[in-house]
Amino acid sequence: CGVYGVYSRSAEADVSGMTYLGLYALQHRGQESAGIAITDGAWMDVTRGMGLVNEVFRHQVPHMDNQYIAIGHVRYSTTGSSMLANTQPLMVNYSGGKISLAHNGNLTNATEIRRELEETGTIFQTTIDSEVFVNLIARSRKATVEEKISESLNKIEGAYCLTIMTENKLIGARDPQGFRPLCLGKIGDDTWILSSESCGLDVVGAEFVRDIEPGEMVVIDDDGVKSYKFAEPKLNMCVFEYIYFARPDSVLDGLSVHEARFEMGRVLARETNYKADIVISVPDSGNTAASGYAYESGIPYVEGLVKNRYIGRTFIQPTQKKRDTAVKLKLNAISSAVQGKSVVMIDDSIVRGTTSGKIVRMLRNAGAREIHMCISSPPIVYPCYYGIDTSVRKELIAATKSVEEICEYIGADSLHFLSLDGLKHCMRKLGPDHMCYACFDGGYPIEQKSASPAEHDK
Ligand code: 5GP
Ligand code: SF4
Ligand code: MG
Repeated sequence: CGVYGVYSRSAEADVSGMTYLGLYALQHRGQESAGIAITDGAWMDVTRGMGLVNEVFRHQVPHMDNQYIAIGHVRYSTTGSSMLANTQPLMVNYSGGKISLAHNGNLTNATEIRRELEETGTIFQTTIDSEVFVNLIARSRKATVEEKISESLNKIEGAYCLTIMTENKLIGARDPQGFRPLCLGKIGDDTWILSSESCGLDVVGAEFVRDIEPGEMVVIDDDGVKSYKFAEPKLNMCVFEYIYFARPDSVLDGLSVHEARFEMGRVLARETNYKADIVISVPDSGNTAASGYAYESGIPYVEGLVKNRYIGRTFIQPTQKKRDTAVKLKLNAISSAVQGKSVVMIDDSIVRGTTSGKIVRMLRNAGAREIHMCISSPPIVYPCYYGIDTSVRKELIAATKSVEEICEYIGADSLHFLSLDGLKHCMRKLGPDHMCYACFDGGYPIEQKSASPAEHDK
């Protein structure tokens, strides 16, 4: 998911309009639903719907006279099914007023907390784990909203980046592991922005201020920005943000996604050393690594596959059947580019193997002579519990098949996955031990207490 927030006392700033633009820039983080909540200090309103940002707000972007705080959310479901009741931002009334909240990530003890809350009379309205935040906050006996939130966050485990809005504050928080990114930006002296990725700041012309630290909560109000440390930071940023999820023009925790991906491609080239005619990418997620591969190897980078740009990310389609049709709709080979050629094809990851198998067949039909598939991540052997839909273990092709078997399954002439050491080398700027690599090596930074992803409604 993607989260966003704007606080502005500037007369020119249109906080809901800016949130709309911010969500548009974060659309790649989730295409199932979108929502915007706004306040003028007295009223709070939320508008949510299924679909893309420009579909949900096709007729109108929410607006209030004197609105000065807004938060927004784009959703990609990993827990809780794809339906209207599960859209965000969530909004609740509590003793101190109204509160809205947008969450990116997956909680690992949400089921336990939910059970405890339900036993003492709390009624849940959605099936998403994010609802425990608002209920914990609403039930907290602490005096201030800052204390209520930090008390609640200390009960919750797992991955979360939050933007929260009360009638007079915009609050951002990042879990102690820092699995997901969140940054702060500003325009002038009176407009503050929170965004999952820095590309959400660029779109509204904001200047990047800094990343929110793991275990940090920032509170923005008329007194400016205050920072609270609610937990010790551990920093286990998700390496998949760099491999696949984030946009290449974003800079997360000081490392450019483009730079990281480009380097993954260069390392892949050094690890494989193929003598092929052309390098092609599986657009768009393979593009940056493919350009890195071409740069390092000296093999020309050619556009071998065309992507229909009017459809979203295939993987994010929740059922397998929908995913299957989506691949054909999404990609086609350019015969004149690949005919008779030995091709190095770069993609970012193999999850179920659906995409790769289809593309290899497509390229063969288009006349490619040899297909050497190179993947800019190691085999995904373990499921993710922190908010990336790398699915249940039995669906992960690398969990049950060797590299040779996968190669045979997808029908390529050879298959190479970036080594884990190679990947860690690309991440060295962040400190290799300060990242989550659990889907490759099973080293989960926090234990999964709740139901496994299989037991959610995937
Ligand atoms: P597969 O067909 O192997 O299951 O999917 C791999 C493709 O799905 C890659 O091209 C990758 O870019 C894309 N993809 C879409 N969403 C995700 C995601 O959440 N995680 C990963 N690892 N890949 C994804
Ligand atoms: Fe990211 Fe993999 Fe860790 Fe999940 S398990 S947070 S996808 S690195
Ligand atoms: Mg892809």
